[in-house]
This record gives sequence, structure tokens and C-alpha cells, in this order.
Amino acid sequence: MERLRRAAARNPDGVYDAALKTLDEIGSVPDLYGLIGYLGEVVEERHACMCCDQNCIECCGQLPLVTIAEWKILHVWMMDNWSAEQRSAAIARCERLLDDGKTVLPRWMRLGGMDMESAATRDYIDDMFGNESTPCPLLDENGCTVYPARPLVCRAYGWMMRTADDTLYCQRIVDKLVPYQEEEGEFFLPIYRSYQERSYALAGPDSYFTLIAIWLLSHRGPDGDLDPDSREIIADPDWPVLDTRWGFWEAFAED
Ligand code: SF4
Ligand code: SF4
Repeated sequence: MERLRRAAARNPDGVYDAALKTLDEIGSVPDLYGLIGYLGEVVEERHACMCCDQNCIECCGQLPLVTIAEWKILHVWMMDNWSAEQRSAAIARCERLLDDGKTVLPRWMRLGGMDMESAATRDYIDDMFGNESTPCPLLDENGCTVYPARPLVCRAYGWMMRTADDTLYCQRIVDKLVPYQEEEGEFFLPIYRSYQERSYALAGPDSYFTLIAIWLLSHRGPDGDLDPDSREIIADPDWPVLDTRWGFWEAFAED
């Protein structure tokens, strides 16, 4: 990071390229979080329109997708920082989502029996990814309850491009960005795709992800608290996961 900060001081315009060049050296998810955090600071310092609205939690109305490597960080954080009652309450929120047909949870649970190669399944998953009526079970009235351990997408959302052609901004940011660019001119922003790929690589050779709520539910112990040990769920038929190919929609472009 220090090298990147020095490179940015020497050549401010080259900071996003310099950050990309450091990606191969990033060997852990916390280091990746650090890099994304630094880029977020750079973007917000340079462009006031990219700062989130105060106390806004709108983007927590969609469940983040989390790899095993990210889940392990979250899990340890919750074991270390929360009481058993807090952990049980978060699991209970997931159980309520599971019982609520408006949320994405009951539909996600049906994935296990579906033909993953069919176009119908792709549409089904696409529709679930677009669901915005499933509040994150780690959100309370004061905001994110796991902020220091929140997943990658929560750290990047709002101020990165997904790819060179596709944005990852919320409508609130878009509403500020458009007039800002009309006045100040267009500017470049970092692109999430390579950071997402690095996150998947750090999750191992057969990386997969699932909804944050599925991780919590799959680790519910008999007493309603989280099991103290995190475990792989890729081979557990009770808890549907997706291989990380599903993180890149163009992987499913029709031949
Ligand atoms: S983990 Fe935190 S930041 Fe991410 S969606 Fe949940 S509440 Fe929001
Ligand atoms: S990214 Fe957008 S929706 Fe999310 S907190 Fe920031 S302003 Fe709100």
C-alpha cells in the first residue's frame, strides 16, 4: 500500500492503473479490502459527487454474495465481537427472510434442484440478482452491524465501474454524477471486475459464493447460535451455492 501511495503521489492520474498492477501481489482478502478502501478514499477525495448520502443504507436492501474466504472473515469477526444473543438474532432474521416469499431466500433455496445449464435457470438467477426487497440480515436501524468485516461488494458499491461499459452505481450516485460531469467534465473511475476476479482467486481453485444469509443459516448450531467453526458448504445439498462463474454474466452469453 505504501508503494501505491507513493506512486499515486508521483503520478495522481495513474493511481487506478498502479492499483491494478498491485493486484497480483495481493495475497489475502484483508489486503484486498485495504486496497479497495484506499481506492474509495481516492475517488471520494477527487469527486464530491461520489460520496454516499449521509446515513444512507439503501444498497443494504440486496443480499451480498459472499465467498468462503469472505465468510470466514465475517464469521470470526462475529464470534469475536458479538454476543451469542446478537448472533442468534442475526440468524433469526435470516429465518424470517426464508419464510417471506417477497424476499429472495425461498427462491434461492430452490436452486439446488434446478438444471444449472438451462436458459430458464439463468433467467431465474438473473431475476434473483435484481431483487431489491431482501434486507441484509446484518443491517439494523443504525446501519451495518459488521462494518469492519463487511464483504468486498459492500466496500466497492457506489463508486466503481463494474466493467469499462457497465456501472456499479446506485441511482443516488447517478443522480449526482450526471450534473457533476456536465459541469466538471468526464472522469475515470476504477473498474471492479479485476478486484472481483482477485477475490474469487483468493477463495481457492473451485471458488463459489452464496448469499450472506445462506452462510449464516448453514452455520446455525443446535442452540441457535453460530457454530464456532466455519466450514465449506459446496457439497452440502441443503445449502445452494453458485460457482463464481456466475459473478460474470457475460460467461453465459448465448453462443
Ligand atoms: S454486510 Fe453490511 S454493508 Fe453489506 S449489505 Fe449487509 S448491512 Fe449492508
Ligand atoms: S452506494 Fe448509494 S445506496 Fe449505497 S449507501 Fe451509498 S448512496 Fe446510499
